[in-house]
Amino acid sequence: MERVILNDGNEIPAVGFGVFLIPADGSTYEAVKTALKIGYRHIDTAAAYFNEEEVGRAVRDSGIPRDEIFVTSKLWLQDYGFEAAVKGIDASLRKLGCDFIDLYLLHQPYGDVVGAWSALEQAKAAGKIRSIGVSNMTPNLWQKFVPHFETMPAVNQVECHPFFQQRSLRAVLQPLNVKIEAWAPLGQGNKALFSHPLVLKIAEKYGKTAAAVILRFETQDGLIVLPKSTHADRMEENLAIFDFSLTQEEMAELRSLDTGKGVHDPETPGLAERLAAAYKVHD
Ligand code: NAD
Repeated sequence: MERVILNDGNEIPAVGFGVFLIPADGSTYEAVKTALKIGYRHIDTAAAYFNEEEVGRAVRDSGIPRDEIFVTSKLWLQDYGFEAAVKGIDASLRKLGCDFIDLYLLHQPYGDVVGAWSALEQAKAAGKIRSIGVSNMTPNLWQKFVPHFETMPAVNQVECHPFFQQRSLRAVLQPLNVKIEAWAPLGQGNKALFSHPLVLKIAEKYGKTAAAVILRFETQDGLIVLPKSTHADRMEENLAIFDFSLTQEEMAELRSLDTGKGVHDPETPGLAERLAAAYKVHD
């Protein structure tokens, strides 16, 4: 598994297993155990996915040393502001049953982001969290908040796939050595992407699936990717991307698929309120 070095010196596996929308009815436990057996060493959860407890249990039961598994979780909006964030971080640690979290993110860029960020910085200094980052920050939202942070985020986790390559955000983050983590790296299973003639042509050449070509393109382009699947064969397919590489010409062709637009616009008016109402991590 290839690893990426973050701006704080820590290393993160380039492919992570995302568990958004996998229910906490035993399904997350089974999915994470299967993923770890297949070879994933990076799991991406969040307080607002309501499955941190099952992720932690699967990590413990896997028999793999904790230090060899990279665990990410995220603080939800209800816990923003310094005091609430301190408690929110401890709640994640408790639910995961871990002594430390490898990467902890501010899940959404709304509200008292700066106060919440200073709680992440404090938890990092205390050794509870190893790396800290943000999520869903557009270039505008980045400029609004990050100049007020003391520590540069290690990552910004955003929607990113061949139809939305985040080129303007990359121009902001690259000089700061902040890595992009791609959520929806497979375009959430977008059929137009999986059946695109260019993707299929390249897949045929290498004897790979469309998914493998898409994820290879993204990792070769410097992204950390978080594909999600609960099917073991797809989990394997999404990890088998380091035994071939794309030519410069193929990379350029795939870069030309960018439309500059995604499905999720974090600057949509009213979105902060809608998200806060949709996911309640406390009563
Ligand atoms: P994704 O691009 O990984 O799409 C997942 C879907 O793609 C699956 O449901 C399945 O239909 C399809 N798929 C997966 N593997 C396939 C394969 N090999 N062949 C064919 N189809 C396949 O998008 P996602 O699930 O939205 O995102 C992945 C992860 O990113 C999440 O689990 C979560 O960890 C993270 N995420 C973060 C945020 C955020 O706000 N930070 C938002 C959404 C997702």
